[in-house]
Amino acid sequence: MSAIESHLRENPYDIARDQLRRVAQRFDIEPGMVELLGAIKKSVEVAVPVRMDDGSVRVFRGYRVQHNVTRGPSKGGIRFHPDVVLDEVKALAMWMTWKCSLMGIPFGGAKGGVACDPKRLSHGELERLTRRYTTEIIDQIGPDIDIPAPDVGTDGQTMAWLYDTYSMNKGHSVLGIVTGKPLSLGGSLGRTEATSRGALFSLQQLMSRRGETLAGKRVVVQGFGNVGSILAKFLAAEGALVVGLSDSGGGIAAESGIDVIAALAHKAATGSLAGLAGTVPVSNERLLELDCDILAPCALEQVISEENAPRIRATVICEGANGPVTPTADAILEARDILVIPDVLANAGGVVVSYFEWVQGLQEYFWTEEEVNRRLNEITARAFAATWELKEREGCSLRIAAYGLAVQRVAEASALRGLYP
Ligand code: GLU
Repeated sequence: MSAIESHLRENPYDIARDQLRRVAQRFDIEPGMVELLGAIKKSVEVAVPVRMDDGSVRVFRGYRVQHNVTRGPSKGGIRFHPDVVLDEVKALAMWMTWKCSLMGIPFGGAKGGVACDPKRLSHGELERLTRRYTTEIIDQIGPDIDIPAPDVGTDGQTMAWLYDTYSMNKGHSVLGIVTGKPLSLGGSLGRTEATSRGALFSLQQLMSRRGETLAGKRVVVQGFGNVGSILAKFLAAEGALVVGLSDSGGGIAAESGIDVIAALAHKAATGSLAGLAGTVPVSNERLLELDCDILAPCALEQVISEENAPRIRATVICEGANGPVTPTADAILEARDILVIPDVLANAGGVVVSYFEWVQGLQEYFWTEEEVNRRLNEITARAFAATWELKEREGCSLRIAAYGLAVQRVAEASALRGLYP
């Protein structure tokens, strides 16, 4: 890891492979298969030269990694963030394989990224960067090969440029090339809210098993991007008390609850959460340690490590982000009886509705929002039930159960297909 100020304390690809080894041990997966499942199918690293607004040229590093395509074309988002490195993209690609498998959708796993700070690039610079990056990886992606989507730092506009660049190169519009497209370009109703809605459905599944509801629960949401901000809104609408929120600029807290709609308006008007009336400032570190029932880390990886895990006061952690809890922290939380709804289950709503968008695009027949949400709820409930059942049977954490189910399904598919030639 060369980026000294990176948010990554540990190598994420080492973490992902370590998780796989532990799952394989628990569920008796043979060593050859573990080696196969731990391998990255393909990874490309590209230079992305961009003409900046001042006339100068800057060259960014871009990546696209396909982890495994045994169960279908690879699927996964594209991240624009200054800390993006190849091993992070590899880990995120592997987690996508497990996520799609756990949810029972016919995709493998992939991820892409460009090391850049989208907040410091103009609209024009971002467009040129996205189009050049797309062109550099154009032979790696395709509606039957590898289908990108939004992730940290990218959105519907980014996907629109990717869609247009790919389609212009092919000579016709290719709806299935990317998901997370704006509605006016063949996006799916409910896709923008899907990750948060899936997290909400997962939390509701947990609550119903405990004979509880979300009403009155004290919630802290870390990260106020697409996932965190919408999840906070959904939870408040369920009657939960949002006592802490944060974005990259810092956090805010209020014992009596934050008005999430006012927070959204404040962020839109000022660019940050800081200074929202009725709240007190709190650092991003302290925010994670606030007294609450549910903590939802919805930003980047490794924010809960062995360093702060002993001080977490939530009783449930809902991983809106990918990889926010390190394995060492996981063990500490488990020993402290803090239940973690793992990323591959908690934030899978995004890729599930991406799957719906891909299907709708291929059929050129679009569903109502109600249909999308109903099917998302069905898939989430099914995956949650299977994971819960395995956890109870094995006496293991929800993470080991979720990864265990996912990995075994890919292993089974791989054994059935056999090795070519
Ligand atoms: N980036 C999201 C994730 O990590 C969505 C991926 C997708 O929709 O393909 O799950």
